[in-house]
Parts: sequence; C-alpha cells; structure tokens
Amino acid sequence: MTTPSDGVLAGGPASDKARPWPAYVTASVAWHAGAGLFAIAAPASWPWAVAAIAANHAALTAGGLWPRSRWLGSNWTRLPAHAAARSEIAITIDDGPDPVVTPAVLDLLDAHGARATFFCIAEQARAHGGLCREIARRGHSVQNHSLRHSHRFSMLGRRGLAEEIGRAQQTLADLTGQRPSFFRAPAGLRSPLLAPVLHRLDLQLVSWTRRGYDTVQRQPQRVLERLSDGLAAGDILLLHDGHAARTPAGRPVVLEVLPALLQRLEAAALRPVTLPRAVGTEAVAA
Ligand SMILES: [Zn+2]
Repeated sequence: MTTPSDGVLAGGPASDKARPWPAYVTASVAWHAGAGLFAIAAPASWPWAVAAIAANHAALTAGGLWPRSRWLGSNWTRLPAHAAARSEIAITIDDGPDPVVTPAVLDLLDAHGARATFFCIAEQARAHGGLCREIARRGHSVQNHSLRHSHRFSMLGRRGLAEEIGRAQQTLADLTGQRPSFFRAPAGLRSPLLAPVLHRLDLQLVSWTRRGYDTVQRQPQRVLERLSDGLAAGDILLLHDGHAARTPAGRPVVLEVLPALLQRLEAAALRPVTLPRAVGTEAVAA
C-alpha cells in the first residue's frame, strides 16, 4: 500500500483523495477574494489589487508550465520509497501505440524481461486496437495520455478536460479490459482545473524523474546520457514510441536507446516494472 508519508517522501500523491483542490489553488482563490476586498475598502489602491491578482495568475501559470511541479496538485515524480527499496524503476513510453515502433519496443523489452508503462493516446489506441491489447497481453501497463494529445490541452475548461480524459479512460478500458489508474498530461502541461477532474476520475498524475527529449534529440547517445545521469532505484524515466525522433540514419531514436538503457539497468541491478506494480495500485477491471 502507498502511505501518505511514502507519497511525500517520493514525490507521490500524498492525501489527494481527500482533497480534490490543491492547497495552492485554494489559497489562490482566497488571495483573489482578499485583493477584491482590499480594493473595495481602499478604492484608490485598486492598481495594487490588480497587480496582486496578476502575480498570482503568473505563479499558477508557471506551476502548469513546469511538468514536475506539485503546485497544482499531487504528481508522481519518483516511485514510492517501498518500490525504490525493492530496486524498482519505471520505464514509461508515451504517445503510442505506433504500428511501426511499438512492436519493436515490445520485442526489446521482452528480450530483457523488462516491463514498462505505455501512456497511450486513446485515439491512437483505438486506431491500432490489436496493438494496444498486445501491450497489455505481454504484461505491460496501458495508462491514460488523453484522447487526442491536443496542444490546447492545458487551456481546456473543466468540461473539456473531463471529456478529453474521460473518453480516453473509457476507450482504453474497452480495449484492454482494465481501467487506467494513472494520467500524464500532453507535454506535461497543466492548468489549475486538472486536479479536480483527475480526482473525480480516480486518476493519479504522473510526470517523471528524468526524460531524454527523444522526440527532438536525434543522437541516441545524448538521450541515453540524459536518462542515465544519476540513475537510481525509484526513478521514473520517459521515452516515446509515438512522435519518436529519427537518428541521422532514419531509425526511431527509442529503438537505439532502449537496448543500451536496459543493459545499464541490468548492470545496476535495477528492475523495470510497471507503475501499478511499483505503486501498489491493483489493476481495476473495466
Ligand atoms: Zn505526449
């Protein structure tokens, strides 16, 4: 089981189930009310009230633009302490499934006895339903990376977020027979409206410990170095099977990086497991 102390120590969700609105967002609402009352009580000071609200909005925006921040709600940036104590590590693979890249990724993982978590774009998963089922059948975990991976995701209202995430949840559950329990925001970008939507759908937000920028970096060695710099038990690593950059020779970068990364994990006696396994959430039947 994940305890609140595990969550705090490991960058986990702490007590989010009991508190859908993050404290920082609640404080921001109070800040707005306070600035409004100040302006009413001392009308000449209204520019200060406007400045106070603008500063608060800037801080909220910054929290949403920083994928690993916890200002806008709980956010797994590392595995819980009990998983790290078992020498576990999580490889997470985003933006698929991709009909060319994903089958090769699955074979590489199999060759090393590794299990990974695939944050799938639900429309991609529906277009390649057999491949999505194959990911689950081979012992990996399929989790929610939104319906369409819209570049406007962080600007959606509450209803738009609920539809984008809720429809993805249903699509992935229909395909694999298991409801996702984790969500990763497209490009990691969020707004203050996201946390209550995730709470209602019983989803936990996940970002990462380290990413290799393998959608833009064409040199596999650079991606590998970024991912393995300071590599330690409990890390959550981010790679991509969808939107993968190509090497100068035209190969998807992830396929060049994975074999070397998996060898390094083996040499360091680190065990790649799925997020539900590491965190301790049981798979929920759809
Ligand atoms: Zn993505």
